[in-house]
Amino acid sequence: MSVSEKTRKILWVQAGGLCAICKEQVITSGTASDDPSVFGEEAHIVARSEGGPRAGGLAEDLINHHTNLILLCSKDHKRVDDQPNHFTVERLRLIKSEHEAWVRSVVDADKSRLRLVPDPMFPQPRALKLIMRGNPLWNMIKESFSFEYAIPDNLHDDDEDLIIEFMDLVRDFCDIAGDLVSVRENRDAEKILQQHISRLAEREFLVGAYVRHMLLTGGSADGPTPWPMLRVEVQPAALAELADESGTTYPRQTS
Ligand SMILES: [Zn+2]
Repeated sequence: MSVSEKTRKILWVQAGGLCAICKEQVITSGTASDDPSVFGEEAHIVARSEGGPRAGGLAEDLINHHTNLILLCSKDHKRVDDQPNHFTVERLRLIKSEHEAWVRSVVDADKSRLRLVPDPMFPQPRALKLIMRGNPLWNMIKESFSFEYAIPDNLHDDDEDLIIEFMDLVRDFCDIAGDLVSVRENRDAEKILQQHISRLAEREFLVGAYVRHMLLTGGSADGPTPWPMLRVEVQPAALAELADESGTTYPRQTS
């Protein structure tokens, strides 16, 4: 009786594809024209042959059971078989169980890590939308959970102050947008944004923005949480790469 395909899968998955002793991944990387080389081996804890190292005492059907196998690299497999006084059955069982517990803990820790991934239900924005008025930017602020920005390099101090003031305004509005419910408050917010956008335009700067629909996954939450992220950039008008509502990029080429 040999090791079954199913037993192999159980062993390799539980070992995380790593040697239980040196923790090396038991395949090499591939090359442009070759597959990875496999140097992982399924070593018996209680040996198969009567005369072999760690022989004896296990029923035939348990010899090739995954509980009696340990995944090792070829070097450590040879070492284990060459040094049976050190690598006893008890020691190998301990190495196996500690290794598999460690693999589980790494996988669990990775699953519980919070992270943002793109939401497959929404197309991802390819270009920033040109923002000429306060209203569309305010709508983006209201729907977003977080905010990121980009500011051009090598600005005059006056321009930099103006842009930073604008970004701080957007950030503040992101924080309080949920609390502004009345039509009056919403209208006022749009107007304040409009004033800043106009002041930037007077200095030859354009505002671009998009909302990227992300999902927050991991942690203790039940399933992923939608997490729309607002990105706002201010760009010098001459260099801006933005798209208007129709998808036309700005500035239009003029000859
Ligand atoms: Zn090894």
